[in-house]
Amino acid sequence: MLGFDTRWHNDLGDAALAELAVREHRILLSRDRGLLMRQIVTHGCYLRQTGTETQLRELIERLQLCAEIAPFTRCLECNALLAGIDVAEAEREIPEGVRQCASAYWRCSGCQRIYWKGSHWEAMRRRIARMCPDWVTD
Ligand SMILES: [Zn+2]
Repeated sequence: MLGFDTRWHNDLGDAALAELAVREHRILLSRDRGLLMRQIVTHGCYLRQTGTETQLRELIERLQLCAEIAPFTRCLECNALLAGIDVAEAEREIPEGVRQCASAYWRCSGCQRIYWKGSHWEAMRRRIARMCPDWVTD
């Protein structure tokens, strides 16, 4: 949602997660201290909070991420980058009701999903604005 290149797995063991983080130069986020203490892990962050919303706030504050966010630039499903597409192209693939209220569209370069500024987008925009008050939407 905030535009960071992320990966999420709950099907990998500690060794595989640590190796993945190192290989892809990622910051490993976890509540598993044993995982973060592995010698191979160079960049890890223990999350004290347990809820996803509070964890997100914790992470934004600790890593000072507000200045780095690029909301709505990545796919919420597969993490690939989004790119703007022609209205005519999008309207061939979206429901009739969406055509009435959306005027701009983006396609995921990975899974090809189409995004628009609908009610879900507005709810996320408000959520982001609460976490990063200085963020300016276009
Ligand atoms: Zn995607």
